[in-house]
Amino acid sequence: MATFIVLLGPPGVGKGTQAEVIAETTGLPHVSSGDLFRENIKNATELGTLAQTYMNKGELVPDDVTIAMIRERLSKPDCKEGALLDGYPRTVVQAEALEKLLAEFDGKVDYVPYITAAEATLIERLSGRWTCKAEGHIFHEKYNPPKLAGICDLDGSELYQRDDDKAETVIRRIQVYLTLTAPLIAYYRERGILSEINGAQPIDKVSADLLAVLGK
Ligand code: ADP
Ligand code: ADP
Repeated sequence: MATFIVLLGPPGVGKGTQAEVIAETTGLPHVSSGDLFRENIKNATELGTLAQTYMNKGELVPDDVTIAMIRERLSKPDCKEGALLDGYPRTVVQAEALEKLLAEFDGKVDYVPYITAAEATLIERLSGRWTCKAEGHIFHEKYNPPKLAGICDLDGSELYQRDDDKAETVIRRIQVYLTLTAPLIAYYRERGILSEINGAQPIDKVSADLLAVLGK
């Protein structure tokens, strides 16, 4: 039976960081909608050009193109046993589309860890985030610094600060989260699969709580 996990939580709470840990422990592929969009931007695809106009403003990319991109990714053979979704779904329409899509694969969303932290914490985390150009590995200048400044520990590529991690865009992304994504908390709670995790703890403590929720 395949296992699908949806990591829910505001921008900067630590979804991508924790996804790297869980992917390693469970062997499930890490499917990040943000990383998929950034890959399209890097490769100058039509989807990348479209997505960038929304991402730069901190707005969501339209549901139809986002759903089509995730459908294509989840149809790949490495997702046969399940996947760890990070950043998708972000709207109720996307969550409904995911339910239908997984039903086609005889699957369902099994776990929804919902990671929380105060807004000031999110802003501090995003303003100190450094991302790897090659694979999107995530560091923080204070809380998870790379061994060598500006270089990814895992693959040696260059680290950069995302354009949308600047203060004005971060504030907009949090607003968008509260309006369009926060309704998913009730959506998944009603389905009995939501588990709240305190994200305002050190990275390894959050990982331990998450793995406990997943029974690992
Ligand atoms: P998200 O994917 O939810 O936007 P990230 O995983 O990219 O969040 O984390 C945002 C920033 O916060 C990164 O710089 C990351 O290194 C840092 N971070 C993640 N989890 C923690 C934590 N528990 N404590 C301190 N910093 C963290
Ligand atoms: P973070 O890790 O900080 O939460 P992401 O990398 O997940 O940020 O997302 C960056 C941007 O990509 C979002 O602000 C949005 O513009 C776009 N994006 C990512 N996932 C989705 C999605 N599921 N639906 C619509 N837009 C998305």
